[in-house]
Amino acid sequence: NGVNGAQHGTLKGKRWTKEDKQRAKEEALRLLPGRKALPVWGGKDAILEGVQKNDTVIVLADTGSGKTTQIPQFLVRSSIPCDAPRIVCTQPRRVAATSLAKRVSDEMGTQLGGLVGYTVRFDDRSSRATRLKYATDGALLAEMLADRDLDKYDVVVLDEAHERSLRTDMLMGFLKDIQQRRKDKVRAFQADKGKGKARPSAQNGEAAAANGANGDKAADSRDPTELKIVVMSATIDAKRFSDFFNNAPVLYVQGRQHKVAMHYATEPQPDFCDAALKTVFQIHNKLPPGDILVFLPGQDEIDSLAASINAYLPDLEKTKPNLGTLLVTPLYAKLPPTDQAKAFAPTPPNTRKVILSTNIAETSVTIPGVRFVVDSGLAKEKRYHAGTGIDSLVTESISQSSAKQRAGRAGREADGYCFRLYTEASFNALEKRSQPEIQRVSLTFALLHLLANGQDDVFKFHYMDRPDKDAIIYAMMTLHGLDALDGKGRITAVGRKMANLPLDPVFARVVLASFAEGCPREMLDLVALLGSKDQLLSVPSAVRDQATAARQKFVHRSGDHLMLLNMLRAYEELDGKDERKAWCRENFVSHKAMLAVLDARKQLRERVERLQLGDWEATAGDEPEPILNALIGGLFANTALRQEDGTYRHTLTKQPVAIHPASTLHNKKIPAIVYDELVLTTRTYARTVSAIEPTQIRAKAPAMFAKSLQ
Ligand code: ADP
Ligand code: MG
Repeated sequence: NGVNGAQHGTLKGKRWTKEDKQRAKEEALRLLPGRKALPVWGGKDAILEGVQKNDTVIVLADTGSGKTTQIPQFLVRSSIPCDAPRIVCTQPRRVAATSLAKRVSDEMGTQLGGLVGYTVRFDDRSSRATRLKYATDGALLAEMLADRDLDKYDVVVLDEAHERSLRTDMLMGFLKDIQQRRKDKVRAFQADKGKGKARPSAQNGEAAAANGANGDKAADSRDPTELKIVVMSATIDAKRFSDFFNNAPVLYVQGRQHKVAMHYATEPQPDFCDAALKTVFQIHNKLPPGDILVFLPGQDEIDSLAASINAYLPDLEKTKPNLGTLLVTPLYAKLPPTDQAKAFAPTPPNTRKVILSTNIAETSVTIPGVRFVVDSGLAKEKRYHAGTGIDSLVTESISQSSAKQRAGRAGREADGYCFRLYTEASFNALEKRSQPEIQRVSLTFALLHLLANGQDDVFKFHYMDRPDKDAIIYAMMTLHGLDALDGKGRITAVGRKMANLPLDPVFARVVLASFAEGCPREMLDLVALLGSKDQLLSVPSAVRDQATAARQKFVHRSGDHLMLLNMLRAYEELDGKDERKAWCRENFVSHKAMLAVLDARKQLRERVERLQLGDWEATAGDEPEPILNALIGGLFANTALRQEDGTYRHTLTKQPVAIHPASTLHNKKIPAIVYDELVLTTRTYARTVSAIEPTQIRAKAPAMFAKSLQ
C-alpha cells in the first residue's frame, strides 16, 4: 500500500529499458555544451593537478560557476588518488543534495542511484555501483559511526564551506585526523607489502565498480588509499580554510559575474514588506524584462508579501494592460517540493516572475532568469541562548558577505540590479561575515557525536572557530541529564544508542524512553511525523482557517502530538493510493510529505531493530499517558508550568513562554505543557505542545533535572 517504495541502499524505481538508456544518453549529450561553457571547465586541468599534488585543495568560485555539479564529475573520471575513485560531495541542505544528484545523474546519462546517487536522512538512493554520491553533511557524519576513517571514499568534497554549517565544521575537524590516519594506513600497508606480508587484494577501483553484485566485497579488499579533501566555497574567505588545512593551496576560478547596479534606500524603512512591495512594482513599471528575486526572512513575510502583490495585480492589469503580469512563487525550505519547483520553472510569456525566497536562494540553488534582486537585509537564523538552553529562530540582520552573495544573484546572465531595502550606512555597519553555526546553536548533537566518534576531550577538537566554553559545558550537562554521559563526561551505552539514531539527541532519548513506557510503536510514528511536520501541514495563509476547520476532527484533548498521531491513523486506515491522496487534499496535508513520514518510520524501525533496542511493535493503543511520559523523558527541559495569572513559565529558568497560536492548546487552561521547540518572535512561543501534569515532570524527567526543580 504505497509504503514499500524505498529499498534501502539499492536502485529504486523501475529497471531501465534499452530505450530509457538511449534517451538518457541523448539528454546527456544535449547538456554537454552548456556544461563546457561553465567557468570551472576553464580550470579543469588546474583543479585536477591541484588535487593530484596536494592532500587538500580549496576551490573558490562564484555561485553558478559549476563547482557543485562539475568538479565532482571531473574527479570521478580521473584516477586521483586511485583508479575509479569514489567521491562523496557534502551539502548543508537536503534539497540541494537530492536535486543536485538528479541533475548530475542526468548530465552523466545514468539512472539516479547508479553511478551517481545521494544519501540524506531517511532517504538513500545509492548502491554498490555508486561512485559519486551527494550527501548532506549530517548523513556523512552518521556514516562515520560505522566507517570511522571514511575508508569507503577516496575524495571528500566539502561544498558550501562558506556557510559554515555546524555539521560541515564538525566534518572539517574530523577530516584533519582522518587524513592523517589514512596516510598512516597506506604507509603501514606498503611497508608490509615490502616484507611480502600484505594480503592479496583486488585491483583498485575499476574491478570493484564493474563487479556488480560483488562490489562490496571488492571494495572491502581494496588497497588503502590516502584521502583527498576538496573544500569548495563561494566567498573570499579562503585564507581561513587554507590556514586550517595546513596551508592548503587555494584555486580561484574566474566567474562570469556581470555588472550589478546597486541601489540603497535613502532612509531607514519602517516596514520592509511594504518597501519590498513598492520596489517590486517600481521595477515592474519602469525597468526592462527579467525576473525579480526578493530575499525575506521567513515564511510569514513571504506569505504576506505574496498576498499583497496578488491583491494589487488586478488593478495593474486594468490600468496598464500592456505591461504584462506578475507571477509570484514562494521558495523556502518548508515548502513542499512540488511547490518549490515552481520557482525554477521557466517564466511564461508576457510575465515577470517574482520569487520570494529565504536565504535558501543565496548560494545553494541557482534560479535562471533573475535580473533583479530585492534584499530585505534580514534572515531567520537559529540562535542558542546558553544558560537558558533555548534554541530559537530569530530574525537578524545578515552579514556584508551574505548581502554581496544576494546581490550577485542578479548578475548571473546579464547586467542586473540590486535594491537594498536599507541604507548604505546600515550596510557598512553590518558584520563582515556571518557567525558560524557552531557558535550560535545548541551543541548537544555536536558533542554527542564527537564523543561517539572517539574524540574523548571535546575541548581539544580541531574547531575552525571555537564555540563558547559555557555553551560546551551547558551541552555536556544536558547530555548528562539525558543519561548520554556519565559523571566524568564519558559517553554511556545510552549515549551510543542515541548517537546511532538519526534523530536530535533529545528525540533519540524520547525513543529510548518509549520502550520503557511500552509505546515504541506510537513513538516511532510520532518522531517520523515530527521530522516532516512543517512540510506536512504548511499551508498558505489564505487557506489557513479552512485547513484548521478541516483538521478539527483530529484534535485530541492532550494536544498537538496526539493530534498528529490521529492524522496518521486516519490516513493509514485508507487503502488505495487515490483514497489517501483525496484525504490529503481534504485535510490540507501534503501527500509527498506523508510518504516521507512513512519512509522515515520504516527506516527508524529498521534502525531500532539493528540496534536491538527492543520490540518496536509494542503498543500503548489509545492510551496517551505512556506517550506523554516518554516525551517528558527526553523533552524534560522543554516544559513549562501555568502561573496564577494564567501565563506559562519555563519549569527551570522561569522564563515566560506562550503557547503558539497555531497550537490546538492555544487559549486552553492546562496546568503544564511539554513542547518540541521555542520560537522567538515578539514573544517566546512554544510550538507543537501537549498537556501534562506537573507531577509527571518530576516523575519522568531524569533524576538530575527533577532534583533541580525544588
Ligand atoms: P556552483 O556550485 O558553482 O554554484 P552549480 O554547479 O550548482 O554551480 O551550477 C552550475 C550551473 O548548472 C548553474 O548555473 C545552472 O545553469 C546549471 N544547473 C545546476 N543545477 C541545475 C538544475 N537542477 N537544473 C538546471 N540547471 C542546473
Ligand atoms: Mg554549489
